[in-house]
Amino acid sequence: MLVFATETSCDETSICLMEERKIIEHVIFSQEIHRKHGGVVPELASREHLKILQEICQKMFSKINISLNDIDIFTATCGPGLIGCLLVGSTFTKSLALNLKKPFVPMNHLEGHLLSTSYNNEISYPHLVFILTGGHTQIYLMMSDTHVELLGESVDDAIGEAFDKVAKLLGLGYPGGSELEKRAIYGDENSYKLPMPLTNEDNLNFSFSGIKTHVSILTNKNIIDDKFINNLSASFQKTICKILSLKMERTLNLLNKKNIFTKSVSIVGGVANNNYIRTNLQNLFNEKKIDIFYPLKEMMSDNAAMIAWACIKNYNNKKNNILFKPQPRLKINEIL
Ligand code: ZN
Repeated sequence: MLVFATETSCDETSICLMEERKIIEHVIFSQEIHRKHGGVVPELASREHLKILQEICQKMFSKINISLNDIDIFTATCGPGLIGCLLVGSTFTKSLALNLKKPFVPMNHLEGHLLSTSYNNEISYPHLVFILTGGHTQIYLMMSDTHVELLGESVDDAIGEAFDKVAKLLGLGYPGGSELEKRAIYGDENSYKLPMPLTNEDNLNFSFSGIKTHVSILTNKNIIDDKFINNLSASFQKTICKILSLKMERTLNLLNKKNIFTKSVSIVGGVANNNYIRTNLQNLFNEKKIDIFYPLKEMMSDNAAMIAWACIKNYNNKKNNILFKPQPRLKINEIL
């Protein structure tokens, strides 16, 4: 089964050609245009997808011995995401499928993230997945590849968004999450006490916008020099990690009360690249004798390989539906 997938839910323009469990070709184009605006501008993102998609597609097929006609299934992210961006990617892919008289399978972006670690690991169920990205902060319980329950999520900013917003306040550019991590190495993580919203509440939800507001107050009150940036970066990272650890422990405790015992967790999404968070979570789960899985590097942030893989893995449950309309707020169980 040869699958062609498109992912355009936000500011990554990505295509992938996958055969069974093998990535034949995978292209991820990260749009640079948003840097000067300090955040993703939806209209610009759609226009970039429109400009880039055809270009990377032609380039990809020009260097391999596979033609569009050889593809068995066409698939694209149809939500959640920015509507203009979803429309560009899905319409592009649908027109190829229509033209070649091949099936088109609409895919849920979140399903792509959820199954991303099963590409390079053998997952046993029940399994926990933490999606930590610039668009989502969610905890899922997976009883199987298709039986998935959302346990908790952020009520405001996503975790990756919080990293980028704080980095921006500290003058580290956009997207500045990875720069913040570098600066944190040289800072004292105990220098600033930041709020930890929702950590005393008996639920699995997150809230990050209050921390960002607190950082904003601190940046207004202090001279922003290297020492301040490093110390605040370290304190912010420590706080975020503490919140994650608390919520992860709470998740395990709540599941244990329901007699659900998981032997493994997956940490997926761009924030999973943060080494400080990785090390701390590794220690937490080692202590509990729970395996921790990560996707391949190229399947960590938004990418078309995870969409192709989820389509292949769950194909028996999929419906060909070229009429499916992209939905910006698509929930996990709406197409899975
Ligand atoms: Zn994503």
